[in-house]
Amino acid sequence: MKLNLMYYFMKPDKLYMDKRELMRRAIALSIESVKAGGGPFGAVVARDGEIIAEASNSVTIDNDPTAHAEVNAIRKATRRLGTFDLSGCEIYSSCEPCPMCLGAIYWAHIDKIYFANDRKDAAAIGFDDDFIYQELELPVGQRRKAVEVFMADEAIEAFELWKQKADKNEY
Ligand SMILES: [Zn+2]
Repeated sequence: MKLNLMYYFMKPDKLYMDKRELMRRAIALSIESVKAGGGPFGAVVARDGEIIAEASNSVTIDNDPTAHAEVNAIRKATRRLGTFDLSGCEIYSSCEPCPMCLGAIYWAHIDKIYFANDRKDAAAIGFDDDFIYQELELPVGQRRKAVEVFMADEAIEAFELWKQKADKNEY
């Protein structure tokens, strides 16, 4: 009983971190990641100054090209909070999010993005973020990645089912 009460009073001071401390944590994760064999990126998802989840890039460790620090941190945060909606949270990334992570951040409804290094810094050490951003600005037919649109007449069935579904869990 006494211990619980102490925890309650200590909790706000102990866990609250300002934005520089949170970014410093993301940066520390990025540095640890390089030493551990991952990519040089770290990310922290925080809410009201408290770390909800933190992660580093594990693309080469997990053989997962989607295992960027931000995606890994979002997955951990949603699992911890038991929701797909991270409204009220902010993300601190040691580097500007790539288009994939930016999309994930939008889908997660995270309120605000803080980053330190930017896409040009990443490009300078051989990461493709800036190239993908440039691709997005081009019409589909002019991108380097081939795209072919077909079979929408069959694929539309799932959309029609979704539209009609009364008890869908919208996100
Ligand atoms: Zn990314």
